[in-house]
Amino acid sequence: LQDKLDKALQNIQGRGKITEINVAETVKEIRRALVDADVNYKVAKDLTKRVQDKALGQNVLTSITPGQLMTKIVHDELVELMGTTQEGINLSDKPTIILIAGLQGSGKTTFSGKLANYLKQKRSKNPLLVACDVYRPAAIDQLTVLADQVGVTIYKEIENKNPVEISQNAIQFAKENKHDVVIIDTAGRLAIDEAMMNEIRNVHQAVKPTETLFVVDAMTGQDAVNTALAFNHVLDYNGVVLTKLDGDTRGGAALTVRSVVHKPIKFISTGEKMEALDLFYPERMADRILGMGDVVSLVERAQEQFDEEEAKKLHKKIAKNEFGFDDFLTQINQIKKMGNMKDLMGMLPGVGKAIKDVDINDDAFKHIEAIIYSMTPEERRKPSVIDMNRKKRIAKGAGRKLEDVNALMKQFEQMSKMMKMMQGPQGKQLMQMMSK
Ligand code: GDP
Ligand code: MG
Repeated sequence: LQDKLDKALQNIQGRGKITEINVAETVKEIRRALVDADVNYKVAKDLTKRVQDKALGQNVLTSITPGQLMTKIVHDELVELMGTTQEGINLSDKPTIILIAGLQGSGKTTFSGKLANYLKQKRSKNPLLVACDVYRPAAIDQLTVLADQVGVTIYKEIENKNPVEISQNAIQFAKENKHDVVIIDTAGRLAIDEAMMNEIRNVHQAVKPTETLFVVDAMTGQDAVNTALAFNHVLDYNGVVLTKLDGDTRGGAALTVRSVVHKPIKFISTGEKMEALDLFYPERMADRILGMGDVVSLVERAQEQFDEEEAKKLHKKIAKNEFGFDDFLTQINQIKKMGNMKDLMGMLPGVGKAIKDVDINDDAFKHIEAIIYSMTPEERRKPSVIDMNRKKRIAKGAGRKLEDVNALMKQFEQMSKMMKMMQGPQGKQLMQMMSK
């Protein structure tokens, strides 16, 4: 995937500003690269659409290339898509019951052993492994070996072919023997079928697990989504375990499963050894998919510098009473970037009132921008020259009413006032809040 993205991004490398043409080309390439990496077509399409919207018109900072900026945008979208934060597992029940489900060969038994190891080593638990794959004697042997290896107890009933009974007996055993976590390894088939779904459904209903984890092989690509959906339909599981990410890594499955099934990926499995288990961090996965961790931090640093420089310039202007409509536009863009700034500022004593009448929503922005674009450079720089005649001309040019122009002039005055205030003690307070 990385190579393909690299190639896609080369399109805009070295170009000064991201324009519709180079974005459209690049976005198409990125979409193709994602689809090739097993990202569901619709997911890839939505993602690239958002990337395009964000990228268009962005000024490219002098110290980075458009390609790098684009990479940063793609990276952020990937993170967003995969869930932003790490989601742990819920261990609050006593005992906590964890049901492991998935197709045969997906890595359930291996993961069960790894999870027991993780809970014992890192979370100081006393887990019980339960062998509920009753069809293959080898499966029980496999879990026995793993249990020995990580030094945890295994519960098995060689003669019993009823997984519901075994799991219920195992929970009883756990309660009697002070095991605080019960990990139930189940049987899977090679493909979704009625019998398997009924069996896992029955176990699920009988034991009412604290956590049901769906294990999926990252190498199965697009099929992973169908399987994930089918299991989710029956089990409404809490999270996904993505295995075999050590092989020919395809980030696609992680992206797609998360955005199609809307369940968090909780663990990733990266090898056959019992230690090869990691919590899932969306940020890291995005880095890995892009393979460009350095670029991302570079862009972030450049962006911060850029913002700082802009802020300094603005402060000077405000101090000299030179705040004009161009700066107003810049501010609008900043506000858009920051999201719900009004709420944040409203929390400050004194500021709340001042901005109460300032309309901050996207539609309002569109009108405002249209009006400002109809002003001459001089009018933007020195709003005081805008008299009635000019207002009428501006309104006509923007296709708005005279009242709209008046309203904007009023908003502008309020904004200028607010900007001044930001340089006082309250402004400092706000900056502190925002940096948190
Ligand atoms: P189950 O049928 O779902 O219980 O799957 P298993 O746990 O038996 O795993 C099937 C095969 O995949 C075994 O050979 C495992 O050693 C291997 N396996 C499981 N997880 C991983 C992984 O993260 N990386 C690699 N390379 N192999 C894995
Ligand atoms: Mg197994």
